[in-house]
Amino acid sequence: MSPSLINSPVGPDRRTDPFRPAGRLVLLALALAIPAFAKGHQMESPPFLTGKLVMIPRMGLVLRTAKKDLKLTARTSYLFHTLQDKRLANREVRLEGVTQPDGTFQVAKLFTAHDGKLYRVRYYCEVCNIEALEPGNCVCCQQPTELQEIAVSDSK
Ligand SMILES: [Zn+2]
Repeated sequence: MSPSLINSPVGPDRRTDPFRPAGRLVLLALALAIPAFAKGHQMESPPFLTGKLVMIPRMGLVLRTAKKDLKLTARTSYLFHTLQDKRLANREVRLEGVTQPDGTFQVAKLFTAHDGKLYRVRYYCEVCNIEALEPGNCVCCQQPTELQEIAVSDSK
């Protein structure tokens, strides 16, 4: 072993070692985050897609984006039923979610879009004053619920 190794500053540096792993983790996190930011052209944290909801025979429900048709799944059956609502067909929407390994897009959140503004979709019974999770009849009075769009504040 060469004397230069023995006298290297490794010894004194050990005192600062407890802090080093944290520093490395931060660097690692940054290194991982940068490519993720570079990939999407938007800087917002949840990945999202904009396009139109289209039902295609044999393929099923897709989001028609400027580039292609993306087959959709949803995180919950309530949401999937909402995405399939005929009243939302061919509507401009923004979908937040995750692209699955098989290339489908799993929707976690749905917004409709009008003139650049986002709206939350809900099913509401005015009679009972209650909100339903998916399209269909009111759980209380069994009358059809009304599709409503609630403006989402700009901060979201
Ligand atoms: Zn009702």
